[in-house]
Amino acid sequence: MPELPEVETTIRGLRPVLQGRRLVSVEARRADLRRAFPPDLRQRLTGAKVTSLGRRAKYGLIDTDRGDTLVFHLGMSGRWRIEPAEIGLHDHFVLETDEGRRLALNDPRRFGSLELVRSDELQQYEPLAKMGPEPLGDAFSADYLVEALAGRSAPIKALLLDQRIVAGLGNIYVCEALHMAGIAPGRAGGRIARERLVRLVDAVKAVLRSAIEAGGSTLRDFAQPDGELGYFSKQFLAYGREGEACGCGASIRRRTEGGRSTFYCPRCQR
Ligand SMILES: [Zn+2]
Repeated sequence: MPELPEVETTIRGLRPVLQGRRLVSVEARRADLRRAFPPDLRQRLTGAKVTSLGRRAKYGLIDTDRGDTLVFHLGMSGRWRIEPAEIGLHDHFVLETDEGRRLALNDPRRFGSLELVRSDELQQYEPLAKMGPEPLGDAFSADYLVEALAGRSAPIKALLLDQRIVAGLGNIYVCEALHMAGIAPGRAGGRIARERLVRLVDAVKAVLRSAIEAGGSTLRDFAQPDGELGYFSKQFLAYGREGEACGCGASIRRRTEGGRSTFYCPRCQR
């Protein structure tokens, strides 16, 4: 399932193909993914020039010179394919640039989404409106977290997954960051000392940066025909390692709540 680093890698892979290019062909090959596509998607994008690409939380943002932003979410299985050799069953949205390069949004499970939002109304766009700061931005700091967690008795893991506190963090990176910071996932958020929150903020940024770096190192492959953006193998220290040895010698444990697994070390996370 694509998390923030996959979306960031996708944007970095799309940028050299799309930025400054005019879209000469726009084809929606079905009417919806998780939600219906905007009915005027094709008209509003055909002939438009892509002015910039960015990301907010797990949403990819493609701005055009018509004041529209194409907002995409990869859902569970979405990925962009650059110059696919052929358009397949799961390529639901296909773009062609004035350089003749073709891109397809592929999503077998169709939990992704595509929306067109006026660029100057993006801050009010519902999924983004109430989001907390970006985890890699300066606004996500220990000072901020001290304030955001004050008085909260919910487990720190649940609080980090709350998009209103910090945007775009998913289960994998929260497990990894708590492990790196040595904080037990069940600890009450409001009862963690400031110096430990300093470590937590550093850990969140470090695990995300290292995953984005891993994704970036695969970007050269995307220049090839049939390049698929956004999925790469990563090394985790806790996530998915139930029963394996932690660096401290204890074994990593797994706990499942609400269908979501938490991987943690009972010895070095407190
Ligand atoms: Zn340990």
